[in-house]
Amino acid sequence: MTLKRYLCCLLVCLTLLCTVACDHDRPTEDLSQSDGSVGFTVNYLDVDGGDAILVRTGGRTMLIDAGYEETADRMILALRDLGVERIDYLLITHFDKDHVGGVPSLVSEFTVLNIIQPVYEKPTATFYTRYRTAVARSGALVTDLTEPSLLTLGGQSFYLYPGEATAYAEGDNDFSLVVKATYGAVSFLFAGDVEAARLKEMNDSKINWSATVLKCPHHGTYNKRSETFYNKVSPKYAIITDSDTEPPSPDTLSRLAALGAQVYRTSQGSITVYTDGTDVTVSYQ
Ligand SMILES: [Zn+2]
Repeated sequence: MTLKRYLCCLLVCLTLLCTVACDHDRPTEDLSQSDGSVGFTVNYLDVDGGDAILVRTGGRTMLIDAGYEETADRMILALRDLGVERIDYLLITHFDKDHVGGVPSLVSEFTVLNIIQPVYEKPTATFYTRYRTAVARSGALVTDLTEPSLLTLGGQSFYLYPGEATAYAEGDNDFSLVVKATYGAVSFLFAGDVEAARLKEMNDSKINWSATVLKCPHHGTYNKRSETFYNKVSPKYAIITDSDTEPPSPDTLSRLAALGAQVYRTSQGSITVYTDGTDVTVSYQ
């Protein structure tokens, strides 16, 4: 290749890069900084037993999972009602249809700037192909998370934990990304769909999992590792993303009752948790 031809190619590449960047209207502001607004709000949306959890702090938005394809319209309406204009970070805990099914509709309705996802053998199901195609088209910056990481968004630290093992008994669920955030004296733990093998790993780790507000693992199912896990977290408020047809295990409810946790279930409606760093208010919308 001649130098002239090389320079020509380079120019085309740079133009393409610029076009991609401009197309997606990537803002120039620093997302790690707060816009000065106070408080930490989490909306656990009712998406019929899936997960779609909106976190807002410092003027930034993070959506943890996007529910089912069938509940995408409901989720989008709820996000619009909450005044959401764009998603700064979409965090995918794992690639099950009740967590990624709504992503294609989400990215066609909202600008999604960043996507964080776990790394494991991908499902072959159609909903996953749709997810991957939509993500590629969205222009979002995609990060495959393989190590525990700190994300700063809106002046707030989020600790992200992928699974440590390379294989689990429950191949999808146990690979869930787990998120912990502490705002003032109030902490939040989002436990994805982790099951027994991953709970054992978490129970055995030195990480402090205690949290004021817990998004219970795997829609409130219960296994032989759950008791230790719930004891370690010892939540004041427990949120279960269940549905009328798939309620939580009675063992989960009795363990949470024994710990004195107040239980809220998305089968009863979307749930809003707000804290100023000291007090916590929880309500159904
Ligand atoms: Zn799930």
